[in-house]
This record gives sequence, structure tokens and C-alpha cells, in this order.
Amino acid sequence: MGDCIFCKIVSNKLPSHKVYEDENTLAFLDHNPVNPGHTLVIPKNHSRNLYEIEASDWQALMETTRMLSSRIKDGMSADGINIEMNNERPAGQVVFHSHVHIVPRIDDDGLRHWPGTPYKDGEPEKVVEKIKNLL
Ligand code: 5GP
Ligand code: ZN
Repeated sequence: MGDCIFCKIVSNKLPSHKVYEDENTLAFLDHNPVNPGHTLVIPKNHSRNLYEIEASDWQALMETTRMLSSRIKDGMSADGINIEMNNERPAGQVVFHSHVHIVPRIDDDGLRHWPGTPYKDGEPEKVVEKIKNLL
């Protein structure tokens, strides 16, 4: 894909600090990390995000993410790991080539989870229906 910066990283037209590469996936350091070791895992094939990615690329992406997560945790002496994928702009996606963030977490590193709001009475049933109707 002509203008895609992650495709350019795959083809070495843009530099990156690569952590791991195999036939279908590439992992490199995020250049603006939440914590050191924050890594992006991508399929080499271009897809916009979760809605577009092919099943085989998704499987490869998940397996590389799983394999690297424990290595990154150990290598960075982290206390935990967050796995995140942002899909579309309201969810925070800025680069439109599928990618998973692996974020090493340190005890008391100050990052907060998103806030939750409990459901009102009767609301969970309606929500489940909306989803299940599409299955
Ligand atoms: P998104 O918000 O789309 O899930 O995250 C995109 C991530 O890509 C951001 O965390 C950002 O720091 C990272 N990023 C954007 N451009 C580049 C780049 O050219 N090189 C590297 N290594 N990371 C990038
Ligand atoms: Zn791309």
C-alpha cells in the first residue's frame, strides 16, 4: 500500500528497531513507547484493521503476539503486559495498518485502565440481544 508507513517499515523503506520477523509477521519498537519495550506486531500483508484482516494473517499475528509477550515481559523485567489493538478512529487507531501493541507494565507505573460504568437494570439483556441477533 503506497502511503502506509507500516508497509514501508516492512519493505525497509523506513527504518525501525526490529524485534522479530518471520514469513507473515514483523515486530518492532513503537517509536513513542508507553514504557520501554513497547512493541508493535503487524502482519506483513496490508490490512486496515480487525475488520479487514484475513483469518490466516490474524492467526499469525496472534501467535507472534503470544510468543513475544512473555519474551518482552522477561527481557524488560516487567511485572505484567497489556495487549491492545485499536480499531478505527474512535478507538484510537492512528496508523491504518493492522497492529497489536505489546506494552510492558511495571508495578505502580501510573497508567490507568479505562473507567467502567455499571449497567442499569434490564440493560445487559438488551445488549446481549443486539449482539446475539447477529450471530
Ligand atoms: P495506534 O494508535 O494506531 O494503535 O498506534 C500507532 C502507534 O504507532 C503509536 O503508538 C505510534 O507511536 C506508533 N508509530 C507511528 N508511526 C511510527 C513509526 O514511523 N515508527 C514506529 N516505530 N512507530 C510508529
Ligand atoms: Zn500497510
